[in-house]
Amino acid sequence: MICYFCHEALMEEVDIANLFKRQGPLCHKCRGELSRWRAGRRCDFCHRLMEEQETKCLDCLFLSGRFQPPNSITCLLDYHGTAKMLFHRYKFTGDCALAEVLAMFLDRRFGEYEVIIPIPISRTRMKERGYNQTTMVLDAKGLRYSDFLETDERQRQSGLGKVARAQGENPFHLNCRREGLADKRILVIDDIYTTGMTVHQALEKLYTFSPASIDVLTFSKA
Ligand SMILES: [Zn+2]
Ligand SMILES: [Zn+2]
Repeated sequence: MICYFCHEALMEEVDIANLFKRQGPLCHKCRGELSRWRAGRRCDFCHRLMEEQETKCLDCLFLSGRFQPPNSITCLLDYHGTAKMLFHRYKFTGDCALAEVLAMFLDRRFGEYEVIIPIPISRTRMKERGYNQTTMVLDAKGLRYSDFLETDERQRQSGLGKVARAQGENPFHLNCRREGLADKRILVIDDIYTTGMTVHQALEKLYTFSPASIDVLTFSKA
């Protein structure tokens, strides 16, 4: 077997204990590197590394003044070093086999939500990339999800300041009926959580149909 990330042969010893265990396509070294988090003080809500002088997370403070936040945010990987490289290869070089690697970090308990909603990508992005980087991981894990959100074509927003983005038009639309969300326990999944603006705009739409709760899962925190 070959590690999906570094392409080295897996040198795991076969003994009676792991013979019947399904082995992931990741070597020990890659798994260790991907799981490593940068040291430092983090926001206990969005997991962002905070500056020395920050008493409250400025990103969360900003968002909570404008949006209803999720119940919780779970983050699988710290977006730096090897993990950052993984996302780059996965999203921009067409190495879609890496969906399997990300799926290894997903816990099956996420399947217990009543509705799982991935953040969509625009049609243009879909055409360029050929796949939605979030749903492909869910497919690899065998988690069922609902495409209840759609997104407009829009310019890349990374150049805009956060106030401009927060005041701009919400790019998301719901394409489900109220019953699809009302009183349901919902999990929203995104690939990379940076400032949180995208996720909060998606939540703003979802909250209009009165779900019981919304939690957020992100594959990595930048
Ligand atoms: Zn490896
Ligand atoms: Zn925060």
